[in-house]
Amino acid sequence: MPATPEQVLHEVFGHDGFRGRQAEVVHHVCEGGSGLVLMPTGGGKSLCFQVPALVRPGLAIVVSPLIALMEDQVAALRQQGVAAAALHSELEEEERRAVWRDIQAGRLKLLYVSPERLTMEGMLERLAERPLALFAVDEAHCISQWGHHFRPEYRALTTLHERFAEVPRLALTATADPRTAEDIRRLLGLEEAPVFRSSFDRPNIHLAAVPRDAERTQLRAFLRGQAGTGIVYCGTRARSESTAEWLRADGHEALAFHAGMHAAAKREAHRRFARGEQVVMCATIAFGMGIDRPDVRFVAHLSLPQGPEGWYQEIGRAGRDGQPARALLLYGAGDIALARHRIAESPAGDEQKRIERARLDAMVAIAESATCRRRTLLRCFGEDLPADCGRCDVCAAPPRLVDATEAAQKLISAAVRTGSRFGLNHLVDVLRGRMTDKVAQFGHDRLPTFGKGKGVADPVWKDVARQLVAEGALDVAVESHGELVPTEAARPLLRGERAFLLRESSFRAAAPREDRVPPPSDDPLFGALRDWRREQARAQQVPAYVIFHDQTLAEIARRRPASLDELAQVPGVGASKLERYGAAVLAALEGA
Ligand code: ADP
Ligand code: ZN
Repeated sequence: MPATPEQVLHEVFGHDGFRGRQAEVVHHVCEGGSGLVLMPTGGGKSLCFQVPALVRPGLAIVVSPLIALMEDQVAALRQQGVAAAALHSELEEEERRAVWRDIQAGRLKLLYVSPERLTMEGMLERLAERPLALFAVDEAHCISQWGHHFRPEYRALTTLHERFAEVPRLALTATADPRTAEDIRRLLGLEEAPVFRSSFDRPNIHLAAVPRDAERTQLRAFLRGQAGTGIVYCGTRARSESTAEWLRADGHEALAFHAGMHAAAKREAHRRFARGEQVVMCATIAFGMGIDRPDVRFVAHLSLPQGPEGWYQEIGRAGRDGQPARALLLYGAGDIALARHRIAESPAGDEQKRIERARLDAMVAIAESATCRRRTLLRCFGEDLPADCGRCDVCAAPPRLVDATEAAQKLISAAVRTGSRFGLNHLVDVLRGRMTDKVAQFGHDRLPTFGKGKGVADPVWKDVARQLVAEGALDVAVESHGELVPTEAARPLLRGERAFLLRESSFRAAAPREDRVPPPSDDPLFGALRDWRREQARAQQVPAYVIFHDQTLAEIARRRPASLDELAQVPGVGASKLERYGAAVLAALEGA
């Protein structure tokens, strides 16, 4: 076994160097230290425990919440020549016994387990007899009730630091919320251990948020020219089904995924996604935990997420390979109002409601941001970007702020004068002086506001209304007919004590793509390598990317190595893969 972390990184994983804070974490753990790693999705958390697992003597235990995730990591490690296995509830008795035999013989370097299995009677006792390299607790936020993925099984891990005081413990999460981090440290006994916090910026993900006016048209525009696989978060089960359906009619390979589907259908959708097929996954947030496919090119949301943490985790599933990726958020005033009502009516305690309201407000501020969206987003995680990012829709086309106090006053007073019983469409008819049946029926043409907003176009009224809802001056009666109801916060506006600045966006459709991933598919060499990889993946029943990433294949195609030595220089080609596939890759290159 190679001795230094750098050698392991190079020879086993085929990488040139550590990224970000990986080196610090790896050296700290190799020397026997514990800690908490906060790194965004795609930041490279796995290597933080995989490298020390190979450097330190003994068996490394990796706690992971999802079977699919464990299986993928184990498959990838085995490709790299690492003795890894998983213990979980879906194993046959015989397979389980084989894993234990390997443990007892000291043949295994990494063991992935679910938290409930690790803390089952007997397991810890048996492990205590073996030399252990470390414990890694992946998705560590699952231990905290403040996190948005609380899993009670994780609570059993709170005894680890007492029972195995000498074994390093590394907790890892992509949740940046400071409160969750504190919880993790307390529950896993890491109060004295260092926290390795990376920047949460994911500069390769382009960010955009657009008011939703014609969902299908907007999504079509976003998907046009969008090569590759992506996820569309649809909000509800029904919407994920219907979205998949019309996307299929449009010629996309679209799949639905939500918790209400039959287990077999869910497995099939998950399998197709995980195997590296090019699909558009139309899903609820039930889809995603444990997805570590590196080449997801886009993530779209059709409605407002509940908070920045969840949204960031969801869009973070795009572009884990570091290549350009896109996130699009479509949202409307109704989403904001609905979320507010849900919080108000939930049975949660006051403190919990306060946290949820703060989360929602932060999310609304991101969606409505008139300044760099990434800066607004990262500020939620306590991070200050030194400059505007240049990689978001706001940076590309900064909105003008115009004083629209008068329009806001007119809209609010139209709502007040009609008894707060009408939705936006009717109020706009009144303001623009349209003599509709409804206007005639209620005699609203006799109101002083009738026709007072002739000069303002309908879409602008919609912007005014949404921004008033975002600011809390208007409420939407989402449970009935979407009536606009002025709140206390509207008073200072009506009295002229406060100005209303409208964010005038020239931009109501999805931004054009200016940064397509260079389509390497035109390159016949790359195509030949992909064909070869597809055959390998099929024969071995593993996802294509655990054999080689697209990037690695593209780099091989570019360099055209003529020998094994040259091939070994390509990032992503480690010793085990060189031995396994080197000759076949060279042959595929020659034959192309
Ligand atoms: P996370 O678990 O933090 O979401 P992963 O551990 O899955 O991220 O890593 C994301 C991607 O980055 C993977 O494809 C991995 O191979 C790659 N990666 C991680 N560290 C390095 C490195 N030091 N050099 C090159 N690629 C890396
Ligand atoms: Zn920006």
